[in-house]
Amino acid sequence: MSEKDIKTVTILGSTGSIGISTLDVIDRHQDLFRVTALTANTQVDRLFEQCKKYRPKVAVMVDEKAARQLDDQLKAAGYTIKVETGQEGLEKVAGSSDSDIVMAAIVGAAGLSPTLEAVKAGKRVLFANKEPLVMCGDIFIEQARKSGATLLPIDSEHNAIFQCMPSNYLAGDKHRGIKRILLTGSGGPFREVEQSALLHVTPAQACNHPNWSMGKKISVDSATLMNKGLELIEACCLFNVSPDRIQIVIHPQSIIHSMVEYLDGSILAQMGNPDMRTPIAHALAWPERIDSGVDGLDFFKTNKLDFEEPDFERFPCLTYAYKSAIAGGTAPTILNAANEVAVQSFLDGEIGFLDIARVIGYVLEQIPHKAVSDLDTVLKTDNKARRIATEYINTMSHSDKAGIA
Ligand code: NAD
Ligand code: MG
Repeated sequence: MSEKDIKTVTILGSTGSIGISTLDVIDRHQDLFRVTALTANTQVDRLFEQCKKYRPKVAVMVDEKAARQLDDQLKAAGYTIKVETGQEGLEKVAGSSDSDIVMAAIVGAAGLSPTLEAVKAGKRVLFANKEPLVMCGDIFIEQARKSGATLLPIDSEHNAIFQCMPSNYLAGDKHRGIKRILLTGSGGPFREVEQSALLHVTPAQACNHPNWSMGKKISVDSATLMNKGLELIEACCLFNVSPDRIQIVIHPQSIIHSMVEYLDGSILAQMGNPDMRTPIAHALAWPERIDSGVDGLDFFKTNKLDFEEPDFERFPCLTYAYKSAIAGGTAPTILNAANEVAVQSFLDGEIGFLDIARVIGYVLEQIPHKAVSDLDTVLKTDNKARRIATEYINTMSHSDKAGIA
């Protein structure tokens, strides 16, 4: 393998759960990949350790004070790594000609602008960060078409669907004999918990996912089933299908990661142990295959695969997501913004678990959705929805807040 065959990789959100799993896969293939830029929000110590190990050209700390701290630490330790800061810093490394592959692993809408830069620059973009796709997926697809960027899904379900699609299928292609997509989900930590018991759920309980180890925001989304709702919208965008052609299937073991059903009755499923290194390795090496460090399935120990219908009554976030997917336009942007504010507020102990859906329902009612004409419309709508969600949370009296004493 010559030097020019080595692919250079930028990881947006390298200190998070997906970022760390990506570095773990890269560690196993130093002959194939080299890290050129790493980014984080505020976690100086973790980014410093990553810089020492991977020696990227650039490190970005979004927070300015944290950036100065990182710069001082690196200089004191004798490293010549350029430190950038702010959204501009993120956008600069995302679009830089120094990297072939950009892993988009920032959480939430904060990843929108850098990820869009990577797409505009025509890179191979590995999409873990689902929220920007939910907010304005069509803009990403359109920009990728213009720039020639390759968008590869990292979300385990979408990566599975991609693997079950006809070979060489990429976003926007014609559907060849596909009847529907079966989007699987574990059902989260509260799959079997009664509605009344959900009232007093704590952030720690909500983040305790039975099968996956993930960041806090997506863990809460998995507990409310909003994650499955966001994934429904993500799938509509990535695979160019309408919501009625996607069936959500609760599959508690998380062995099947999603399926594609064809007109002739064939159903293709992608299976494996629940570990994000599998989709990450798949997308890093695509169309080749490389070792991810994940053990293969032992079918003699996996003796049961269960499937259930989702419970829309106990998990109203799923209904809101379905309705937003059908409405289209800015509806998913409003849904996503209200959810981000409500989840943060729940994690901060300000509102109860059941309030998350209440906040989303309220915000969706307040803002009429409209067509998405450009990015400006999306960003303004996102802002407005966040403001209304915050105001609503502030006006909720203590006794109003479900489960908060
Ligand atoms: P995480 O919270 O563990 O990590 C988030 C990363 O983003 C960190 O590096 C953090 O420093 C950075 N970050 C946070 N806020 C930021 C901001 N305002 N500006 C810039 N950077 C910021 O999250 P995660 O679990 O790794 O998830 C990342 C994304 O991948 C999410 O969109 C999530 O939905 C998606 N995803 C995650 C998993 C998983 O298994 N963790 C699976 C599928 C999809
Ligand atoms: Mg997923």
